[in-house]
Amino acid sequence: MSDIPNIPNEKKPTPKSIVLTSHPSSNVGAKPLPLEWGAADPAQRGPVVATLKNPGGKNAIGTHSGAYSLYRALAIAAGQLKAEHKPDLTNTAPAEPLGPFPQWADPEKIVSIDPWGHITSQVFAKQINAGWDIRPTIAVTKAHINMPELHDAVRAGRLKPDGNILAANGDVKVTKVAIEPVWYLPGVAKRFNISETELRRGLFEQTGGMFPELVTRGDLKVFLPPIGGMTVYLFGDITKLGKPATRIACRIHDECNGSDVFGSDICTCRPYLAHGIEVCIEEAQQGGVGVIVYNRKEGRALGEVTKFLVYNARKRQEMGDRAETYFQRTECVAGVQDMRFQELMPDILHWLGISRIDRLVSMSNMKFEPIVASGIQVVERVPIPDELIPADARVEMDAKKAAGYFTDKVPDQDELKKAKGRGLEE
Ligand SMILES: [Zn+2]
Repeated sequence: MSDIPNIPNEKKPTPKSIVLTSHPSSNVGAKPLPLEWGAADPAQRGPVVATLKNPGGKNAIGTHSGAYSLYRALAIAAGQLKAEHKPDLTNTAPAEPLGPFPQWADPEKIVSIDPWGHITSQVFAKQINAGWDIRPTIAVTKAHINMPELHDAVRAGRLKPDGNILAANGDVKVTKVAIEPVWYLPGVAKRFNISETELRRGLFEQTGGMFPELVTRGDLKVFLPPIGGMTVYLFGDITKLGKPATRIACRIHDECNGSDVFGSDICTCRPYLAHGIEVCIEEAQQGGVGVIVYNRKEGRALGEVTKFLVYNARKRQEMGDRAETYFQRTECVAGVQDMRFQELMPDILHWLGISRIDRLVSMSNMKFEPIVASGIQVVERVPIPDELIPADARVEMDAKKAAGYFTDKVPDQDELKKAKGRGLEE
């Protein structure tokens, strides 16, 4: 390990010894910083620290910023960022207070988010003032959004500008929350009904041994995975969150860049997202709170390369793109139909203090079931209106309805056999 690869650069760094995080003599120390997951008092819970050189030590495997931690590593390797840079967190506190809620004090209700992640500078001010490097894993800010679909909804008379939540020019006031995943390993293992050892081993081996501490430091219970997190868009008065009387409209949306951003028409993602936002605005205008959770789980968490390979396989198969083989084509390429693991998804709802969703804008049982199983009541499920489904997305919609999506019209066998998707050359 003493060999530093040859860098053809005049600014060649002076070789330093590599710190093996898996060994007790490393910067983790023989004893990690105390952490009591689920403790109601943040001082007792303790900060989640994954920064590599913190004077008080650390207690988490991995590092901050999710997938972007690799870019930070690159910036440091390229000499553009000092490894010891500590963020100045002046004025970065949440734009609106959020929580605490009783759910934060249940170690099993929330296992993939640090509930105190947005107020670290407040609740751990003493340590930060003493020079510790404790980073927020959540940020809360405010914004205006504006989408052409909402203008359509106003024109069609479904939405009415109120001059506050929805302005006449289509601007919508939102509070938006960015969240990086923080996994409490014993809790995550329990959600999947596997042992913590099995979970740690899988994460270690299947990432090319990226985090040795997963298998050598069983005393480090928290892992910051190098994956995308989520963004929550909140509509209405968020101080009403956590109150049983508050009506909640909600859509849990998994990222689909092609449709969400570029308007690609092979699926219903953007139309359904826009419909979810419309329902959220409606609810907020009537005094409730609207919640859009946007998870970075591109292509059912299979990634976009796999997704596009599947599109080709669907469109090139004999008899064309049709609902009856929709899931099969995904399974041929990916080995499974889906990797989104909705088991962890309800955490965000508990973090927001939600115990009842009055209007769930989703037809997916894969989302509905874990929400209900986690103890949240769902009053009404709102399907996507038929007129919002793009023509090329009929294949997806029929396949999902046939597979048990929440609907009043299940397509029959003949319907599923029909090629409805465009060919590749069209
Ligand atoms: Zn999509």
